[in-house]
Amino acid sequence: MPKILHQRGKCIGCNICFEIWPVRWRMSRQDGKCTLIDGTEKKGIWQALVSGDELAINKKVAQACPVKIIKIVE
Ligand code: SF4
Repeated sequence: MPKILHQRGKCIGCNICFEIWPVRWRMSRQDGKCTLIDGTEKKGIWQALVSGDELAINKKVAQACPVKIIKIVE
């Protein structure tokens, strides 16, 4: 199954991922960065499996992120 990878530490809190797909992304009130919903952290990279239904929209999110810290691994 494809995976979303998110380098959360480099997030600039622009809100774009949340605006495109709030099902998977939300903004943290604590530090202003976005959080990958249902993600787990490993060495600073957050990751979550993504089903076929959600793949295309998360590819759009990855393309739209201005600092390119979201990757989809298929
Ligand atoms: S689009 Fe990128 S920089 Fe903007 S909030 Fe989401 S992860 Fe952070």
